[in-house]
Amino acid sequence: MKKPQLLIPGPTMVPPEVYRAMQTPMFGHRSKDYFRLHDEAVTRLKQVFQTANDLFIFASSGTGVLESAVVNVLAPGDRVLVTCMGDFGIRFADIAAAYGCRVERLEVKYGDVVAPATIEERLAGGGDIKAVITTHNETSTGAVLDLAAVGKVVQNHGAVLVTDAVSSVGAIDLQTDNWGVDVVVTSSQKALMTPPGLGFAAVSPKAWALIEANQRPRYYFDYRKYRKSATKSQTPFTPAITTILGVNEAARLILEEGLPQVFRRHTLMRDMVRAGVRALDLSLAAANEWASSSVTAAQLPAGIDAGAFRSRLRERYGISVASGRGPLVESGFRVGHMGYVTPLDMLQVLAAMEGCLGEAGHGFERGAAVAAAEEVLDNEGSR
Ligand SMILES: *Cc1c(COP(=O)(O)O)cnc(C)c1O
Repeated sequence: MKKPQLLIPGPTMVPPEVYRAMQTPMFGHRSKDYFRLHDEAVTRLKQVFQTANDLFIFASSGTGVLESAVVNVLAPGDRVLVTCMGDFGIRFADIAAAYGCRVERLEVKYGDVVAPATIEERLAGGGDIKAVITTHNETSTGAVLDLAAVGKVVQNHGAVLVTDAVSSVGAIDLQTDNWGVDVVVTSSQKALMTPPGLGFAAVSPKAWALIEANQRPRYYFDYRKYRKSATKSQTPFTPAITTILGVNEAARLILEEGLPQVFRRHTLMRDMVRAGVRALDLSLAAANEWASSSVTAAQLPAGIDAGAFRSRLRERYGISVASGRGPLVESGFRVGHMGYVTPLDMLQVLAAMEGCLGEAGHGFERGAAVAAAEEVLDNEGSR
């Protein structure tokens, strides 16, 4: 028998409490039962998003809510700056371009981050930039943008700050209101430890000014419709009730653990995985200074087939990790450590990696990765 361990950066594992909440028999979306659920879920999610802004729930994948931000905030011809630190930043830029925006891409090499000063300089250069579009945690590389600093930079300018927080909300601190992030979008299947199917958007008053003035046609994702329905504890179209039941419970679990502890747990898992990977002489895609606490990308030594390595992890141990992206697509892998995972799970995946690397003929001292991670865990108390 194998216990499946899904350690890809989404969809992620789901706690039993969330599955149980999702077994509630169906009810109508124009009923009191739904109104109660809607209000409770929105209230809890606002705490998780650290915001008092409007927060909307959509039946959508993450990419759908990225698109929702573009169609609501921006009109054709609008100039936007987009941070491109990997595949997801590129996707956001492509969506803006597809909707007719004039897109300026701030590109860095995979594994690196865009410096807030770069954004500051570009904004100071003028040119009526309507929005700065960012990826908080670039899931393809495991690099985190300094969004607090970017928020400060953008606050001094007329542009709105939009962020893709799909792989950060619920794992990495994102202080929506304190940092002045105008539109935060995420989805259910990553650190929010709920099955796929829901997208979320938190929208600031500063963003509303653009949204209300925006003449572009839009329909399903029109935030104005969601705001109007929200006053009646509803959504304009049939909500994904079952998944909302799930995320409502997941948000309860996150708040019960407490956001500071949730972030600490994720940081600890990051440090354990990175120490273990280093002990095996593998290289990490992102530098320590901006390493993600929700996903780690690493490169295997030359001569080890990454696809075969991942298959062996699954066959021998039941553990799924994801493929590398960008330059690491052939030689790398990514371990997701967000949501319903604990430091103990990290010891397990490192032990399994040792098993598969040993089998593949990679030279290292057996037990080194686990020992390095245990040392991080032991020192946790003294932090
Ligand atoms: C997963 C992810 C997405 C895309 O989500 P889908 O649900 O697959 O559409 C977007 N951005 C980031 C940063 C992600 O990690």
